[in-house]
Amino acid sequence: MHELAITQSIVEHIEEHLEGSRVVRVVLEIGALSAIVPDAVRFCFDVCARGTNLEGATLEIIRTEGTGGCRACGRTMPLDSLVASCACGSTDVAILRGQELRVRDVEVV
Ligand SMILES: [Zn+2]
Repeated sequence: MHELAITQSIVEHIEEHLEGSRVVRVVLEIGALSAIVPDAVRFCFDVCARGTNLEGATLEIIRTEGTGGCRACGRTMPLDSLVASCACGSTDVAILRGQELRVRDVEVV
């Protein structure tokens, strides 16, 4: 379960930057193509946050849709998997969006 390591590094990152503040809410953006399971992150978050200034914080996860761009015709399209083909017949589709994992917002008191 790589989510544990990922979540751990997110918690550490936030802790480092907001030392001494109490974090009440964290908003994460997880791309639909990132292979990161939001439910697993949610579970790990509670575990990782224990004993830190993030303990008890609400975790909000925003799922960002995948977007691909065809290298043959330049068209962009929604993607729901890493294997894609374009309407023009080309399978040379670049992933433009949907693999990201980022902290969008952190709320402190
Ligand atoms: Zn195309």
